[in-house]
Amino acid sequence: MIKTEIRYEKSLGRLKCDICDTRFRENARIYKVNNDIGYVCQQCNDNFSKEDIYLIIDLFKSYGGYFGKFDDIKLSLDNILTEFYDRISADGNLKNTFEYNRKLCHKALLNGYTPKQLIQKMKVPKNYKLKKRTI
Ligand SMILES: [Zn+2]
Repeated sequence: MIKTEIRYEKSLGRLKCDICDTRFRENARIYKVNNDIGYVCQQCNDNFSKEDIYLIIDLFKSYGGYFGKFDDIKLSLDNILTEFYDRISADGNLKNTFEYNRKLCHKALLNGYTPKQLIQKMKVPKNYKLKKRTI
């Protein structure tokens, strides 16, 4: 996981940010993620933590798309999470959970939600009391 900065030059203007899909008009950051290279604009570099940037690049390289791709037809986080929980409960196979989590995060990103927003939405409220299960 290496990050370097490259100065803006004309050839860089042909490339797009691997997070927001905007053409470069200024310096770019290069992140090495797994065996891939991710180009990140200054704005995305400032808006996301390093950990998030590695995660986001990895997800977009794996599944395609970019941050906020579905802004026009944006789903709510509640809808995204409901679909996620429905899929997990229908599957019932915990060995697929890792892949479901990655796809959940990818879908949230496509709809313009940051990993932080997703995690906050998934948190159980402080005063929430779990119901006792009766068998
Ligand atoms: Zn960007």
